[in-house]
Amino acid sequence: VTIELINTGTELLLGRVLNTHQQWLCRELADSGYRVSRQIAVPDTLGEIEWAVQEALGRAELVITTGGLGPTSDDLTRDVIAKLLGRSLREDSAVLAHIQNIFERLNRPMPDRTRVQALVPEGALVLQNAHGTAPGLAMEVPQGPLPSRTGWLIMLPGPPRELRPMFTDSVLPFLRRVLPARTEFVCRTLRATGIGESVVEARISALLEPLVQAGLELGYCARPGQVDVRLASNSPTAHVLVAEAESIVRARLGPDVYGEGDEELEEALVRLLTHRGETLALAESCTGGCIANRLTNVPGASAVLLAGLVTYSNESKIAFLGVDPETLAKHGAVSQPVAREMAEGAQKRTGAKYALSVTGIAGPGGGTPAKPIGTVYIGLAGPFSTRVEHKVNAFDRETFKNVTAQQALDLLRRSFLSEPVA
Ligand code: ATP
Ligand code: MG
Repeated sequence: VTIELINTGTELLLGRVLNTHQQWLCRELADSGYRVSRQIAVPDTLGEIEWAVQEALGRAELVITTGGLGPTSDDLTRDVIAKLLGRSLREDSAVLAHIQNIFERLNRPMPDRTRVQALVPEGALVLQNAHGTAPGLAMEVPQGPLPSRTGWLIMLPGPPRELRPMFTDSVLPFLRRVLPARTEFVCRTLRATGIGESVVEARISALLEPLVQAGLELGYCARPGQVDVRLASNSPTAHVLVAEAESIVRARLGPDVYGEGDEELEEALVRLLTHRGETLALAESCTGGCIANRLTNVPGASAVLLAGLVTYSNESKIAFLGVDPETLAKHGAVSQPVAREMAEGAQKRTGAKYALSVTGIAGPGGGTPAKPIGTVYIGLAGPFSTRVEHKVNAFDRETFKNVTAQQALDLLRRSFLSEPVA
């Protein structure tokens, strides 16, 4: 199946908005055995959209457009495509009712312009928008010069929170039906942390080589603090190849693998804590609440996270965590003993079973030869003991916070591997 993706939006070409649809859709498609062969971003102008769609339809069996289905004057996609294909637009009463319903629920009058979103090109299928007003649209269209061949054109709304569920819930099942991938496709992603990309590769690549020869696709995707290993195959023995590869990777990486698929480390941790029926508190300094932010992104975090204190100053470490002023004076705020007292203070004051603490130097200022920029102490107070790890994360501030948060979350996760539920 040849697929082309057209992202519309002047803001994409002005660099105001990052084209996340390109990455997200290509990845979702790839994980389902479809490969995008071409992608283009075009501004919100009649001529550009028309040209891009016409060209793509000449080559691809499936053309996906994103954006421009809304009610404003720069939302042209639906109109341009209906005109290009010579389809008339009619108002769909079910779509209109859905839009009216949304405005009623918001208790707001429905602006007249909004009505255009209920227009559906002749013969198009409506893809429900559970998170917004404009539905997606799917149309069977002539493909290439031969009138007997047809392909599909799918229009998706621009906002990611509308596009993503629509793609997962409606588009993928639809594609599997009308344009099934020609070969069976199996894909598995294992996620590792606390280990670099090259180390991961060194541990697994030689062992996987025979499977690669037999048709396994092996890919690495690294970001600070995390490495994804993607195992995929569309050979006739895909299931066996991927399963064998998975057991090799799991055996070789062991506890460095924290999860699979799209699972983030914080999700894995909330899952583990929930399963164990245990609670957590946080005492954050240099991460400024990043750990709490990540954990509270996970539904169900309230069952396990009791409190997150951001104690940025020495005074607040003393007042809210009971850190001893003498420890601060003697060792400095960024030190092993302070990390220990922060974690123990948070644990004691919240009654949580575990407490994590972080104290460090994010930079760009504040480094010394003894404590260079990026120095971090991460404490973990548990039911039996407290431990503190020392790291040097010399990154920009934002990456520093994320990597440090990742290491703190991972410190607790790894402690579970040796400590059964107490
Ligand atoms: P709306 O009804 O909100 O107008 P729409 O279908 O008309 O939706 P657009 O107006 O093109 O979509 O985009 C709406 C918003 O969605 C943009 O402001 C932008 O923030 C986001 N968006 C659009 N395209 C992309 C993209 N390719 N990647 C990331 N975000 C995008
Ligand atoms: Mg719009």
